[in-house]
Amino acid sequence: MVGNIEPKKIVILGGGTAGWMAANVMIKAWGQYGFDITLIESPDIGIVGVGEGSTPTLKTFMDSIGLEEKDWMPACNATYKLGIRFEGWSTRPGFPSYFHPFPAQLDDFTAPAFLHNSLARRNGHDVEGHPDSFFLNSYMAEQKLSPFAGENFPFTVLYGYHFDSGLLGQYLAEIARQRGVQHVQTKIVDTKVSADGLIESVVDGDGRSFEADYFVDCTGFRSALLQGALQVPFVSFAENLFNDAAVVLPTPRPEEVAPQTVSTTLKNGWAWTIPLTSRIGNGYVYSSKYTTADEAEKELRNFTGVGDSTEVEARHLKMKVGRVEKHWAGNCVAVGLSQGFIEPLEATALQLVFDTIQNFVIALESGNFTTEKRDGFNAGVNGLFDGVRDYIVAHYLMNSRTDTDYWRDNANNDKLSRSLYDIISAWTDSKNLTDELRRQKIEHLYPTISWHCLLGGYGIYPAKEGLKAGGMGKHQVKVNEIQEFIRRCSLNYAPHMQALEP
Ligand SMILES: Cc1cc2nc3c(=O)[nH]c(=O)nc-3n(C[C@H](O)[C@H](O)[C@H](O)COP(=O)(O)OP(=O)(O)OC[C@H]3O[C@@H](n4cnc5c(N)ncnc54)[C@H](O)[C@@H]3O)c2cc1C
Repeated sequence: MVGNIEPKKIVILGGGTAGWMAANVMIKAWGQYGFDITLIESPDIGIVGVGEGSTPTLKTFMDSIGLEEKDWMPACNATYKLGIRFEGWSTRPGFPSYFHPFPAQLDDFTAPAFLHNSLARRNGHDVEGHPDSFFLNSYMAEQKLSPFAGENFPFTVLYGYHFDSGLLGQYLAEIARQRGVQHVQTKIVDTKVSADGLIESVVDGDGRSFEADYFVDCTGFRSALLQGALQVPFVSFAENLFNDAAVVLPTPRPEEVAPQTVSTTLKNGWAWTIPLTSRIGNGYVYSSKYTTADEAEKELRNFTGVGDSTEVEARHLKMKVGRVEKHWAGNCVAVGLSQGFIEPLEATALQLVFDTIQNFVIALESGNFTTEKRDGFNAGVNGLFDGVRDYIVAHYLMNSRTDTDYWRDNANNDKLSRSLYDIISAWTDSKNLTDELRRQKIEHLYPTISWHCLLGGYGIYPAKEGLKAGGMGKHQVKVNEIQEFIRRCSLNYAPHMQALEP
């Protein structure tokens, strides 16, 4: 028994990354208490097979289930990631690109200077307002350094990973099976739902029936149980996130790789460049309203230098962007693409997967499945999705490319949530943005540094010509000294390639 909960039978439907992450978290939490956990997947349907970047939450997930980097990283061709570089989103002079860093402990010393300067610059003072001058991770990514320093320099740097998503799924599957998850390969063709909206069983093509107390829908964009059998409505984000398709292709890996994802704008979307130990993953995320799949593939081929080579095959994918109204309905919780997807600009999908599973584990262990408890869970997960959406929408809204309808329409999009509208107003009205995030109680979604980096990184400041010389008040930030401090700190960290050696 966990608390006063009797062992339950759980069926996870779907064996993509979301399904195997759920299986691992659940067997770790409940295997010892006699819970019976079965994962069913259809080899005919297959997995989406993309998604190669993470936030630091993937490290939290790996640590929580006791997997070590020295084992899983080489098996998944993984590299470290210190953040994301955004190239070409802004045409404002002095702001052609910026780096969104994952937090580092040493930011405590440099971030206040950046926040101070960005407020001064918004108030018309001619001071350095570009985030790249202030953050250790930005500098380290550029210098191709790893997040690891010697013992005499005990300052941590948060990091995520790049990985081969197919290999990661296989690795997690193997671990989950070893730990006691039952694995059934078959296609589910029918779902039995009771009159009061609970799933009783799922049934395969041979008539085999799988019953359970709880069903976890990890069936990808199909969402066979939650949106299919239980008919939970889908809330589309299409009106402010235009991208609905992607094309992907690999290129060879150069000798050294920087620990960063690069996101570069193309004509009708953006391209990711993700370094693995085995190859570079490239993908163009675009809107099918503005360009065709053929045109997008051609543009990506030119961008990556692959050209017309028939040796490199491109894969095309469709994306359904939005979220379900409720992630948990009756005895079914959806995890992964089945619960929703926000395009991969900040690589947040697996973070949302882990957050959802963790919240479900906590809710189940606390018992008493009242409507109130389910509503609380759903409101919490919806808040996570909507918060990520707003941050992604801000990228598009702040772009200043004017060369295509796609970018112009994005910049002119007025379908903003109240929350995003208030954040942007606080920035442009030269108010304290941290206070605004606190007022909205949303700092846990994206912290103030992330918002400052985005808005400062795109150069959302008054025109340079009208700025007054010098800083705000008597507090002048000595940017040269901050850069020297960052440079000296970075000397303690090992090269990225060295950290990747097995
Ligand atoms: C273009 C693109 C880029 C992305 N980039 C990132 C990124 O950088 N970072 C990130 O975190 N995420 C990213 N993602 C999201 C990421 O790929 C997914 O969140 C992740 O792979 C989890 O997918 P899934 O397990 O939910 O679904 P899938 O991988 O689609 O798995 C679905 C599973 O359900 C099974 N199934 C379906 N129906 C049935 C049935 N009837 N019977 C039995 N089995 C069934 C299938 O066989 C499969 O095993 C990206 C997604 C896209 C589309």
